[in-house]
Amino acid sequence: MHRKNEGAVTEYRMTGKLFVLSGPSGAGKGTLREHALNDIPNLKYSISCTTRHPRDGETDGVEYRFITREKFKEGISQNLFLEYAHVHEDFYGTLKQDVVNELNAGKNVLLEIDIQGALQVKAKMPEALLVFVDVPSVEELERRLRNRHTESEESLRVRLKNAIIEREQKDKYDYVIVNDDLENACKELREIFTKS
Ligand code: ADP
Ligand code: 5GP
Repeated sequence: MHRKNEGAVTEYRMTGKLFVLSGPSGAGKGTLREHALNDIPNLKYSISCTTRHPRDGETDGVEYRFITREKFKEGISQNLFLEYAHVHEDFYGTLKQDVVNELNAGKNVLLEIDIQGALQVKAKMPEALLVFVDVPSVEELERRLRNRHTESEESLRVRLKNAIIEREQKDKYDYVIVNDDLENACKELREIFTKS
């Protein structure tokens, strides 16, 4: 686990709001995010950097910025990340400047990041609102991951094992949404984004 980049971020005026979505892999964060970005004006998604390989259909600069481990480590040493973490055997991180620029321009920003990263953001930007996307059960999570056909058996096992640990931390979030019925979950998220 990495917890560098400590210290509050001061170079922002925070005219926009910062929302952070986390939850187990397969809970439906990506699905909810797509709906939110389509439904809610002035909400910008911050594209993370990752060292993992693109999945079929993923494009550099769209889902992620796919970079090498060397480049990622360079970013860490130059303090370019608002937060970063080692998740499911790869590095993932949010570029600080991206978020600061959008917030300063008055946009609301959405991050979809893991729990380690979310807690780093909350420590540096306490105004950030953390939303945990949960599933009705681990069995349902496994069903969703299998139906998504994106993971090898090994990667699926890692994700399910991590999910158990992640779900134990949901009390650290400002809001928890159980993504059982998708329409209801979208509605709950929209309310959080628009009424906060
Ligand atoms: P995450 O981004 O959290 O890894 P995804 O958004 O990729 O999760 O969702 C995982 C899978 O579950 C996808 O195949 C998605 O279509 C499906 N899914 C999302 N929400 C629901 C839901 N409420 N009920 C059933 N399946 C869902
Ligand atoms: P996936 O490989 O399935 O796209 O993502 C795996 C995990 O990495 C998910 O829990 C996702 O939220 C998290 N993640 C994606 N981007 C970031 C990031 O920039 N920072 C952190 N800390 N986690 C991230």
